Amino acid sequence: MKRYSVFAVAREALRYHQGWGRAWRSPEPKKKYEAIIIGAGGHGLATAYYLGKNHGLKNVAILEKGWLGGGNTGRNTTIIRSNYLQDASAAIYEKARSLYETMSQDLNYNVMFSPRGVMMLAQTQHEIRGYKRTAHANALQGVSTEFITPDRVKSLVPIINIDGPRYPVLGALWQPRGGTARHDAVAWGYARACSEMGMDVIQQCEVTGIHRKNGQVQGVETSRGSIECEKLGIVVAGHTGVLADMAGFRMPIESVALQALVSEPIKPCMDVVVMANTVHGYMSQSDKGEMVIGGGADGFNNYTQRGSFHHVEETVRALIETFPIISRLKMLRWWGGIVDMTGDRSPILSTTPVKNIFINCGWGTGGFKAIPGSGWAMAELMAKGHSSLTEEFGLNRFKEGKFIDESVAAGVAH
Ligand SMILES: Cc1cc2nc3c(=O)[nH]c(=O)nc-3n(C[C@H](O)[C@H](O)[C@H](O)COP(=O)(O)OP(=O)(O)OC[C@H]3O[C@@H](n4cnc5c(N)ncnc54)[C@H](O)[C@@H]3O)c2cc1C
Repeated sequence: MKRYSVFAVAREALRYHQGWGRAWRSPEPKKKYEAIIIGAGGHGLATAYYLGKNHGLKNVAILEKGWLGGGNTGRNTTIIRSNYLQDASAAIYEKARSLYETMSQDLNYNVMFSPRGVMMLAQTQHEIRGYKRTAHANALQGVSTEFITPDRVKSLVPIINIDGPRYPVLGALWQPRGGTARHDAVAWGYARACSEMGMDVIQQCEVTGIHRKNGQVQGVETSRGSIECEKLGIVVAGHTGVLADMAGFRMPIESVALQALVSEPIKPCMDVVVMANTVHGYMSQSDKGEMVIGGGADGFNNYTQRGSFHHVEETVRALIETFPIISRLKMLRWWGGIVDMTGDRSPILSTTPVKNIFINCGWGTGGFKAIPGSGWAMAELMAKGHSSLTEEFGLNRFKEGKFIDESVAAGVAH
């Protein structure tokens, strides 16, 4: 196994980010591939990686209109957890969480997975009931979570205001092996591994059309010419509707902006992730010391990658009442991403009306945590035509009304 010094990794990461690195200089596209993945976010890259690693499919191109991880993958607040309610969700999110545990070793790239623990505060009687129900469901699903008392919350997060001016903390759903990872590193690690398997990771290559014949995919039209393929995976998050339109079908999905911000760095003061869904905000502390803060999604469809003022005010107000010590912090950066929301707040991993086109989307406000599990399952779906992990996440569920309701687990944006 190759070893990289800290400086080599940092230098390559920098080059990578700029899109001109040695291993990652975008190659010229070939005329034909066995499989093309559109979108070099975490889900697209992980799909390609497991296509090669688990199914031996290596004649693969990953096409990205911008730069690696420049979509939601490089814009999220990096929370990883698997405390979902429904069995199908717990299965795929827990698969992902467990793959995060060994991802740095698997990819030989430090993704800085930090299983520091994630808590979701219960601040109403309704939330207590909801989270206790989730803890019971998780026990049956083999996902390790527990409902903890306010005293335990305070001992894990001394800076929290348990009494809250509006909503006291009444307990929390606690997942001790949830946590965070470095988001760019996840994209870079997968991309380097794909590149080492001989795949072409092609940046600055926008897909502008999808060729079909007799109801089957033939290839794609791109800003760098036409490319043929046998199988096509569309993995473009907020641009799903645009790509589906090119392929001639419609998706039950909406694109909205979701935003986050970080404060100036301060000394370590909080070593777990806290989500406060009732007042609506969540916070963790990055390795650099910045307080990483996330809030809600816009209430209207749009394609902006920036925040809106009322959300910042709302989110910061919620977090100041939860953590009074942050009231005098300055904001350092503020940004947004375009997230892809389904009605039941669950993803879509599916075949489509066009033969050999597969789609992976709908991760909405919470798909970073799912990247390895989603890539694993999507690769199996593309290689074999079915996967036990994707069975319930097909497009058919919207026709048949078999929704996988995760509105509680995905209640606050993360
Ligand atoms: C502010 C914010 C905070 C979040 N916080 C969390 C969190 O804490 N935890 C969590 O689990 N999730 C979180 N998420 C959600 C998470 O980021 C996403 O669900 C996940 O990153 C989606 O990954 P992806 O690979 O599907 O999409 P993306 O990373 O968006 O990748 C899609 C790629 O497709 C490319 N593309 C689009 N159209 C084309 C085209 N025509 N041709 C070629 N390429 C194209 C885009 O440029 C993009 O790079 C957050 C999201 C945001 C915005």
